[in-house]
Amino acid sequence: MKLQIFALMLLGLVAAPTWAATGCSTTVQGNDMLRFNKSSIQVPKTCTTFTVTLDNVGSMPRSVMGHNVVIAPKADEESIINDGATAGLDDDYVKPNDNRVIAHTKLIGGGETASTTFKVSAFKPGVTYSFFCTCPGHASLMRGAIVLK
Ligand code: ZN
Repeated sequence: MKLQIFALMLLGLVAAPTWAATGCSTTVQGNDMLRFNKSSIQVPKTCTTFTVTLDNVGSMPRSVMGHNVVIAPKADEESIINDGATAGLDDDYVKPNDNRVIAHTKLIGGGETASTTFKVSAFKPGVTYSFFCTCPGHASLMRGAIVLK
């Protein structure tokens, strides 16, 4: 018994540095109820790059309840969503090569995951950024703040 506890402690010690190294990433869950499980994401200034992973924990297919995570200036959110609706499902509801978008994941269905990695230097001082889903009608509920800390 004591040996098992010791082994678990060792595992903890081994896991700790790995966990610290993943401070430059986060996972956001999206579900069939049009919700992300996070309303804000903090990006440490010490990170060179940051990775956002979207985990669609729903069960509905991409064409019915697809989600993505788009990161962009909050001021551009509405126009990015509108242009994404025009781009359509085949383009993940994101206008191709939209230079207002810092990063975005693919649009994924239930049970799928997708990641996007971006340079933290893409965040400009004094600009408010947000993350949101551009599937039409989703962003009124599926949105949050992404903040450089
Ligand atoms: Zn969505």
